[in-house]
Amino acid sequence: MTENPVPATLPTLVEDDVRRILCVVAHPDDMEYGASAAVAAWTAAGIEVTYLLLTRGEAGMAEAPEVVAPLREGEQRAACAAVGVRDLRILEHPDGMLTAGLALRRDIARVVRQVRPDLVLTANFEVEAYGSLNQADHRVAGLAAADAVRDAANPWVFRELAEQEGLEAWHARALLVVGHPRPTHARPVQEEQVRASVASLSAHVAYLRHVADHPAPEAFLPEILREGGAEAGTAYAVTLRVLHL
Ligand SMILES: [Zn+2]
Repeated sequence: MTENPVPATLPTLVEDDVRRILCVVAHPDDMEYGASAAVAAWTAAGIEVTYLLLTRGEAGMAEAPEVVAPLREGEQRAACAAVGVRDLRILEHPDGMLTAGLALRRDIARVVRQVRPDLVLTANFEVEAYGSLNQADHRVAGLAAADAVRDAANPWVFRELAEQEGLEAWHARALLVVGHPRPTHARPVQEEQVRASVASLSAHVAYLRHVADHPAPEAFLPEILREGGAEAGTAYAVTLRVLHL
């Protein structure tokens, strides 16, 4: 017998008394590469899930931004419907040029105080991610979300949110980071939610058509979720790094 063996499986995310989860990402489609399977499980369990997109994804296709922004917003709305998300909020920070700073943190903190989530989810914001160099907006969005969750809990930060908008400080319990190379927990999902996640990515019809050689969602999403399941000791799972706040 070895001493202090490394656990064979990731523990399941504890969701006792979780009623609301806020997901903060940079672009339309960012939730659809695995995370939306967990979202489908949460909404099926009666948890209210809000998506906050920091940009409209207008710089992500060949067509002009004026054409692309409403198109991608519509596709995101369909993606949300596939996993039971009714509350979609989209800020209009510039796609591809998301700037780290107080303006972005204030905009996210405002929504944290409006939604009053128990948990906040964002995507991996490390420099290297997904087998390559992480996209600039992804780095900025995730770090800003992490900072803004703390900001939202501090009544002396962004005092104007309380004084002018009546938004009192709100303390979320934990930050969940999806797509992280060192996950601490897993959210097991069923086959039905794997199918819902495939439907959610498939809803980005025009965007997927634009990306050259993008594999079909059904060709790789179940595999990602199966790999997560292998870490969790279940058939399918979304893995998460959980940071308690
Ligand atoms: Zn993105």
